[in-house]
Amino acid sequence: MDIDLVSGLVIIVAIGFLVLFFVLPRYGPHYTSRLTCPNCRKSFNFHWIPGATITSLFRRNYRDLKCPYCHIKSTYDIASTRVSTPKPKKTK
Ligand SMILES: [Zn+2]
Repeated sequence: MDIDLVSGLVIIVAIGFLVLFFVLPRYGPHYTSRLTCPNCRKSFNFHWIPGATITSLFRRNYRDLKCPYCHIKSTYDIASTRVSTPKPKKTK
């Protein structure tokens, strides 16, 4: 019975990982952030998926990104600069 319980837990964890890394990135919410480079002051859009990567679990709202214009790596707060939600709600 113990072996069945353990293997059951392993299957549940495996399904959880599958959902986290394969289902959510494709079908889950996608966000767009309008980021401004601190070096060259140019703005660019960044598309991201909440909870899709392991690093995002530790550093939820911050990403290290290279600016597409000056190619200098900076840390951006992608939560506060979010400009769009994945599914726009219908306004009555
Ligand atoms: Zn830049």
